Amino acid sequence: MNILIVHAHPEPRSLNGALKDLAVRHLTAQGHQVQISDLYAMGWKAVADGGDFPRHDSRERLSYVHASKVAFASDTQLPDIAAEQRKLLWAQAVIFQFPLWWFSMPAILKGWVDRVFAYGFAYGVGTHEGERWGDRYGEGTLAGRRAMLSVTIGGREPHYSDRGVNGALDDILFPIHHGVLFYPGMEVLPPFALFHSDRLHAEQWPSIAESFTARLDGLFTDAPIPFRRQNGGHYDTRQVLKPGLGQGTAGTRLHLLQPGEPEQQLLEVAGPRLKSA
Ligand code: FAD
Repeated sequence: MNILIVHAHPEPRSLNGALKDLAVRHLTAQGHQVQISDLYAMGWKAVADGGDFPRHDSRERLSYVHASKVAFASDTQLPDIAAEQRKLLWAQAVIFQFPLWWFSMPAILKGWVDRVFAYGFAYGVGTHEGERWGDRYGEGTLAGRRAMLSVTIGGREPHYSDRGVNGALDDILFPIHHGVLFYPGMEVLPPFALFHSDRLHAEQWPSIAESFTARLDGLFTDAPIPFRRQNGGHYDTRQVLKPGLGQGTAGTRLHLLQPGEPEQQLLEVAGPRLKSA
């Protein structure tokens, strides 16, 4: 299988660097094809700005969305952006290796998303009308591909539990899992999260390596996070979850299939029941 690793850490000898190297070694040994986007090593341009559109007339007001749409449709994107899109289309699974920085991804990786997930590629895909609001959240250009975050975290695990002071890790990663990866269609696996990572000792490495390689082995078989598909009958024409769904839960968890709920909702859950003849 084809696997892309997007790696964001400035120090090759870091813990993140070691996890990335382990993933490359292990996946290659299992017979997979692996490509790496090592963003710091590549000198990745992290800032999304007018420089991304050399054809844009700088006297005109820049709409990044519009310029992105035009560049993608006319095949005039910068080569670095187009190359990353090709890697994504080549990949059947994508692993993101990064440290949690200020409750999110490092800026260089966010900048990779901002620039590579272009209009027409990752958003603005499909028709928008009625209950169908584009090909997104389970559908889109990257449908059929799997994604997994491998994230190292300074804080301790209880701090990221449901009642932990930092907030639940699922909630913190929801914008990435749901908003960045599920949005253009990818199936998202639960993250590989390494807590308390700044205090790691060398003796802990073998068990960490074992847990990580087990997750790598499940890349194509582990169950993804059961996000509701936008066009699966769960949301009304305003893209609001229909009444009767998500009972007993709240917040971001509303967008997870609840036990017993079918993946494809029957239309009658939606709104007015059909009158019987
Ligand atoms: P490194 O510093 O490379 O290593 C960490 C430990 O692992 C060290 O003890 C090192 O000796 C050991 N190690 C490294 N390589 C190996 C190896 N091959 N084998 C065995 N041991 C090894 N944390 C939070 O919880 N929430 C936040 O919001 C947050 N924000 C942050 C923001 C910034 C700007 C920064 C710099 C840090 C933040 N942190 C936060 C902490 C951050 O998540 C951790 O520092 C990071 O995850 C550690 O990963 P690293 O690769 O940088 O580790």
